[in-house]
Amino acid sequence: MKALITGGAGYIGSHTLIALSDAGYDFVVYDNLCNSSKESLARVSKIINRDIDFVEGDIRDKKRLQELFTTYKIDAVIHFAGLKAVGESVEQPIRYYDNNVNGTLVLLDIMQEFKCKKIVFSSSATVYGDPVSTPIEESFRVGGTTNPYGTSKYMIERILEDLVISDSSFQAVILRYFNPVGAHESGTIGEDPNGIPNNLMPFISQVAVGKREYLSVFGGDYDTKDGTGVRDYIHVVDLADAHVKALNYINSKQFNTKNLTFNIGMGVGYSVLDMVKAFERVSKREVPYKIVQRRAGDIAKCFANSLLAKEVLGWSALKTIEDMCIDSWRWQSNNPNGYSDK
Ligand code: NAD
Ligand code: UDP
Repeated sequence: MKALITGGAGYIGSHTLIALSDAGYDFVVYDNLCNSSKESLARVSKIINRDIDFVEGDIRDKKRLQELFTTYKIDAVIHFAGLKAVGESVEQPIRYYDNNVNGTLVLLDIMQEFKCKKIVFSSSATVYGDPVSTPIEESFRVGGTTNPYGTSKYMIERILEDLVISDSSFQAVILRYFNPVGAHESGTIGEDPNGIPNNLMPFISQVAVGKREYLSVFGGDYDTKDGTGVRDYIHVVDLADAHVKALNYINSKQFNTKNLTFNIGMGVGYSVLDMVKAFERVSKREVPYKIVQRRAGDIAKCFANSLLAKEVLGWSALKTIEDMCIDSWRWQSNNPNGYSDK
């Protein structure tokens, strides 16, 4: 069984390649490298001890995709390729809708042309907007998104749901990730954000390694245990495993269109200060912080009920927040400048 991994050179994609290889799946990576480099693939190749089939290209490039589907017999697609910076999406909505939504439409069109009818899609907890309560269940209302990035994920979910209704042989699994963090235990691959990180864990890591002076904690007056925002952090290696379980499910007799969408989180909420303290414990470094204004668009609490993924996919998170911090720290301290340190 050969899977096409769009966006496979990126953070989550590169970790998923290892999980797929361990599970015996064959794959080809397709990526335009707009937010990644071939170095991640070179390092994955070392970890899994074999060459990786890679085609450089854009998911909006119909011709290139046709060539790829002609060269390789693709049985299923894991679709990571997309732009993901929330703030940037507010400034450049057309670029985000074109890349994410239009890119997915082109990909789906080619899949139909080549009769490839299995897809696992990277969605996000952001589709829930500000939830009425926590933990969040898959049946909660979606679409109350607050930025074009989130709306692009919501639109793609709707497109996939409509496709499954229109063609009973088309199989889709939508994984709604909560907050992916951490890195592979080798310390050779990890998250490599451009410029100043927007996300909490890369920012904490860069403070600990001395690249930044202090962490700005966005808001200390939320209705949470210590006033700081609460999120459901999920180790990227656990998340990678969820994709293997999703492919297994799609290939099994258990696949049922009633269960297309799954929350992928630990099911536990940790505050910003919980993460700072855990990171200090494992790195034995101080992480100075200042509580500042809330960040526009942030919500107080977001964590998953992930029981459906456990029941149907047989997946649950195994790694702790200490594991997330140890692995992020190993990656950051071995590669202070990310992949450019090679
Ligand atoms: P990433 O930026 O590291 O990886 C995405 C990859 O897609 C990159 O390698 C990039 O070069 C590639 N890409 C982007 N547009 C492309 C295009 N038009 N054609 C071909 N390749 C293209 O991001 P990630 O953190 O690994 O995220 C993977 C997916 O998961 C994304 O769809 C993202 O929206 C989603 N997601 C991420 C998070 C998170 O916090 N990291 C949370 C929820 C959902
Ligand atoms: N956060 C913070 N300082 C930062 C980055 C993030 O205090 O420099 C907080 C943010 O307000 C939220 C949590 O950390 O409560 C997780 O934010 P992140 O951007 O990583 O993920 P989000 O859940 O917002 O997508």
